[in-house]
Amino acid sequence: MTCKISFIKVLLILSIASPGILSASDFFITSVDTTKKIAALTFDDGPNIYYTRKLLKILKKNNIKATFFLIGKQIERSPEILIQIDEEGHETGNHSYAHDRLYNLSETGLKEDIAKSQYIFYTYLDKLPVFIRPPYGKIRWHDQNIFKPYFDNIILWTIDSRDYKKHLTADQITERVVERIHPGAIILFHDSNPRTITAVPQIINELKSQGYRFVTISELIEAGANKNSNICEEF
Ligand SMILES: [Zn+2]
Repeated sequence: MTCKISFIKVLLILSIASPGILSASDFFITSVDTTKKIAALTFDDGPNIYYTRKLLKILKKNNIKATFFLIGKQIERSPEILIQIDEEGHETGNHSYAHDRLYNLSETGLKEDIAKSQYIFYTYLDKLPVFIRPPYGKIRWHDQNIFKPYFDNIILWTIDSRDYKKHLTADQITERVVERIHPGAIILFHDSNPRTITAVPQIINELKSQGYRFVTISELIEAGANKNSNICEEF
């Protein structure tokens, strides 16, 4: 699910977007209500020159489409990997420009981060992401008014694989995910460490044997009767 829009429009939206009263409703997605055995694999913090291509190979071998939440600065370093992700049919979402804590930025700083990162996607893919996953899964509650003109949803997660914890082995990451799986789950990974690359094929094999099918975030939302919201609180 993507939309084409000019950068001028990006700037225009930024200039008119101002805080107002908006309901949380379905804007924050942590999982989707469905009885179908489907789940979304999501990968944050790429493109990574060491691991993203290894992961793409695994996904291709298993005929799975996933969703990648990418950092603008990382895309600038390796735009060819973003293009490969897109060409291989995966979904791409925004994960900020520099992985700053967006809840610490000023309103202007936040708008600049969104514009800068969205423009990088537009530069290389000629389309804009409609989903964002803020770093650390957190934004200031009232800042959702700033995000809403740009994104259909803020995507969080149901199952945190904790693949970023160095003391967890690939087997432990696999166990964590397999123990917690349920229909409509969004699983959080990072394609920035070797444990993920070892754990993901194990997880795919195990969940496939349980009858699970893997879909992109757009497909998951489409399949869900209701979306659950949300885990973001003001802090
Ligand atoms: Zn991240």
